Amino acid sequence: MSESINLGSGDPDAEAPECVKEAIFKALKEGGDWTHYGGSAISLQFKESVIDYYKTMGPEYKPDNIIPTCGSTAALNVALGTVLDEGDEILMWEPSYSGHYSLLRSMGIKLSVAPLKEGDGWHPDVDTLGEYVSPETKAVLICNPNNPTGTVFKEEELRAIGDLAVDHDFAILSDEIYLHFVYGDKKFVSTASLDGLAERTINIMSFSKTFSMTGYRLGYTIVPDRYLKRANSLHGLANRPASFVYAGGVAALRSDFSYVEERRKVYGERIGYFCNAIDDVEGISCIPAEGAFYGWFNIKELGIGSQEFCGRLQKEGARMRPGKGFGLNTDHYVRAALVRPVSQLKEVVAKVKNVVNAL
Ligand code: PLP
Repeated sequence: MSESINLGSGDPDAEAPECVKEAIFKALKEGGDWTHYGGSAISLQFKESVIDYYKTMGPEYKPDNIIPTCGSTAALNVALGTVLDEGDEILMWEPSYSGHYSLLRSMGIKLSVAPLKEGDGWHPDVDTLGEYVSPETKAVLICNPNNPTGTVFKEEELRAIGDLAVDHDFAILSDEIYLHFVYGDKKFVSTASLDGLAERTINIMSFSKTFSMTGYRLGYTIVPDRYLKRANSLHGLANRPASFVYAGGVAALRSDFSYVEERRKVYGERIGYFCNAIDDVEGISCIPAEGAFYGWFNIKELGIGSQEFCGRLQKEGARMRPGKGFGLNTDHYVRAALVRPVSQLKEVVAKVKNVVNAL
């Protein structure tokens, strides 16, 4: 049998831009600080490139506010540990990135989960959000654009979430790693750019998706002054990226972003094809994603759970993620990471039809 088509993991099917690879090769050849523990000049250069980049989104930061990490998973670890202790509560949504759930569970954090509903186009109902806040709520975790639904939060939605955070004095964690991948007339707004929110918003960022750099393990968290002391003590030495990888990060952020625009177009075409084709399959419904690069579809009418669906699909030769891990009530959904060309997505849709016809 031919090799399985893997739409399970959100790992882009592209190499990082040439400028990133060249900068890293150059750093390795130069040696010195690039291949040792690394001096502060190297991380300062990186932090300055992050500051300049974020200026395009609104907020102005100081180098101290930028904490470089090994990918955004490490950034999330630092950010969550900074504002939450075991037993504290966090407000979040379902469906949301499965990695958020597993990290929070491993830390013993209580979850207050508000629904993103298919009927609302996967947008939050901000009028009822207050019901999910309690005196134990210490933070809200926003994933914008959201993995897996692709929701691009509207400015008024972020404003309403921000107002709750201000009124109840809790922190905002904003995972913005898909911010460049938004489609149609949707517009990304960085939470911290809204009036009065920068001082309580911790950003979580990564090079993994924007520049197809999943294996380089480069990310960062942006931490406002009030949380810096704890964040720095948690960060320590363990989470620092490799010195020469910083060179790639600087090259990426100082590039003209034509690479990123190219990737955005590619993912947009895939969403356009896949979400419509899968929605046409009897018993399946799918709302095309506004952002990120996933197809998130409803299989309830098929009468089987997401794990069984994915198991049957795997036997046909394609992999996807069961919806189960993306929330508490998400077992009738499946996520396809659209990280393969349309020609392969067509094959996958045919395999899905085989699964459905055999039920
Ligand atoms: N945050 C979100 C929303 C993700 O989808 C992912 C990976 O899929 C991550 C964080 C982790 O990415 P990385 O650790 O590669 O930066």
